[in-house]
Amino acid sequence: MSTIEARADGTRVVSTIAELRGLVAAERRGGASVAFVPTMGALHDGHLALVARARELADLVIVSIFVNPLQFGPGEDLDRYPRTLDADVAALAPLGVEFVFAPSTGEMYPDGPSSTRVVAGEVGGLYEGASRPGHFDGMLTVVAKLLHIVAPDVVVFGQKDAQQVFLVRRMVHDLDLPLEVEVVPTVREPDGLALSSRNRFLGAAERSTALVLSEALAAAADAASDGVDEALAEAVAAFGDHDGAELDYFVIVDPGTFLPVAADASGPALALVAARVGATRLIDNRPIELG
Ligand code: AMP
Repeated sequence: MSTIEARADGTRVVSTIAELRGLVAAERRGGASVAFVPTMGALHDGHLALVARARELADLVIVSIFVNPLQFGPGEDLDRYPRTLDADVAALAPLGVEFVFAPSTGEMYPDGPSSTRVVAGEVGGLYEGASRPGHFDGMLTVVAKLLHIVAPDVVVFGQKDAQQVFLVRRMVHDLDLPLEVEVVPTVREPDGLALSSRNRFLGAAERSTALVLSEALAAAADAASDGVDEALAEAVAAFGDHDGAELDYFVIVDPGTFLPVAADASGPALALVAARVGATRLIDNRPIELG
């Protein structure tokens, strides 16, 4: 039985590495350039903004949908992570995506979890990495695998996952991967909530509580001209207004190093926040200008 399913509108779902490589090689022989968007599925308008950007950048657009077990820790939400392949393919087809690469876990890790890993280093152990040990090694390992499988000219990521973007850019630089990294701004709901596959888990009250993340970032941005301590104080104070949100971290980092800025820092910086709303862990970030 073929593992390639032809869709009437031209989007093909491919589930094996060998078949995807064959299809991409054939397109390459015809001179096509390739843009690649890695995702874990449960697609929303944030993902689709990445795909629309990819469509502008290359002849061929490939989207992967793979919930990578390597980047989930024990007790995290791997089992309950939403899997909605049919709806995802239906959302991608109108955007003119040629191939959806949706491998099984066995296809990606035929020998079980790979023992060879890409190591994210010091920044990989901070913020998201401190709360989710091993997360970034697992993320970089699957991204490296996918980049070797797809071999794109450009890979597109969302600014929503700022630490991921920093680490992927550094991996591409450190390992001399021959491709460009394109970053798309965070897509938000009209009220400021960053779109996330995990938002679907929020009940009505939690959905309103979840606004605390973007409100804390806005409070930090407003206070940033008064300095780092003031910005942090205002951000933490925003959490005082919302019962039911448990702050994990709020930090202001140097975009160049991704390390926390000094107390007397000035100029462009990035504010990062993570919080638990009910059982759902959410992250967000925003550029700020320190005075
Ligand atoms: P995920 O499926 O959560 O692994 O995300 C796949 C890609 O979509 C990553 O590059 C994310 O940063 C990006 N992404 C997720 N949410 C958003 C959003 N609200 N705006 C822009 N990009 C996003």
